[in-house]
Amino acid sequence: MRDVLWPDSARRRDLVDRFVATSRAAGYREVVPPLLEDLGVFERVGEATDVVTKEMYEFTDRDGTRVALRPEMTAGVVRAFVQHKPLTPWKVFYAGTNFRHERPQKGRYRSFDQVGVEVLGADDPDLDVEVIALAWYFFEAIGLRQVTLLLNTLGEHDDRVRYSEAVASHFDAHRAELSEASLATLERNPLRLLDSKRREERSVIETAPKIAEFLSPSAAEHFARVKAGLDALGVPYRIDERLVRGLDYYRRTTFEFTADALDAAQNAIGGGGRYDGLAEDLGGKPTDGIGFALGVDRILLAAEAEGVLGEPESNLDVFVVDLTDGSQARDITHELRAAGLSADRRFGGGSMKAQMRSADRSGALYAVIVGEDEVAAAAVTLRRLRDHSDTAGDSAQQSVPRSELVARLAARSSETSQVRPDE
Ligand code: AMP
Repeated sequence: MRDVLWPDSARRRDLVDRFVATSRAAGYREVVPPLLEDLGVFERVGEATDVVTKEMYEFTDRDGTRVALRPEMTAGVVRAFVQHKPLTPWKVFYAGTNFRHERPQKGRYRSFDQVGVEVLGADDPDLDVEVIALAWYFFEAIGLRQVTLLLNTLGEHDDRVRYSEAVASHFDAHRAELSEASLATLERNPLRLLDSKRREERSVIETAPKIAEFLSPSAAEHFARVKAGLDALGVPYRIDERLVRGLDYYRRTTFEFTADALDAAQNAIGGGGRYDGLAEDLGGKPTDGIGFALGVDRILLAAEAEGVLGEPESNLDVFVVDLTDGSQARDITHELRAAGLSADRRFGGGSMKAQMRSADRSGALYAVIVGEDEVAAAAVTLRRLRDHSDTAGDSAQQSVPRSELVARLAARSSETSQVRPDE
């Protein structure tokens, strides 16, 4: 498990906030499923996947109920949909931590964050376009430039079944070229062989049947509309016929985002697709669904690799240096905060030098300094600590009547907050 400390925590928060803003702007509302669910919720959704069979944190609770920490979000979201029967289309976004018992390495952790969306109850191909474009423009908004969108269709349920059989018999005819592990995959889930990363298996994968030959007219039409929509919105994509999702309930559109600035082992920054049958598996009516999940940790790694991740700025406006008994700092920080400014102070007193060191370290734009002389004169000393667009034109140090301090700083902050380039 991992701790996330500042400044990583600030970047993570920033990223999630932007995702929330992007999703809300498209009419999505937040859903917060529990961290822990009945084991069956995850089992029904991902029986044949490693995530569910090998990586889940599952245990028996005090009532003897088998439960698990969520390894992903979709299962809980669809379970919530079935349980609460909201009006459709139900457009939701989420942000939260998932748990998988994986071998930890860079970009792969046992606790990791995802943001994502799900839409239940709409079958329109333009919705696929909306969902994919949402992720794409989110990546753009955070400054990522080296992202590739891989796109594929798995056809309708029956197309997928016929395709899966054709793929199975293709690989069956080439058993000699497959590894032990791949032979086991062939038994369990032949489509998964298509995204085998083994170099030796590349040629047998190349010659495998292509989904395009198995598409029913309605699936082909759906896919054509999705591609036309992405073209219209200027979202570039690459068709990748080997892009299959492991689960049986995926159909039609599937997609994945890779960060080209990251090593291949952890360059998947998100993926998703259309599914049906999930709501039914969880006891609901047949319902169309589509969604994606993006890996927050990996996106931050990608942003770092692309050099688009600056040091998070301190958001502190003022640091109060109190050379009296501390009551000035107590009152002034309180008044500043109540006026909407951010303010901090040092506790336990200390010399002017020590307090100014704390002020510098805090990253605040201004220090407010109060000693006995200032108290006697009913004034404070306002000192600019850093150059910033907000402080242009201020003299480095000035005396300000105590009674005007809060109003002055508040006025300056509201004037300049409109022109901050990064907002
Ligand atoms: P998945 O739910 O497996 O389709 O994963 C969706 C995204 O979550 C992936 O593309 C990764 O970016 C991210 N992800 C999945 N597993 C992990 C992990 N163990 N650590 C960090 N990120 C992960």
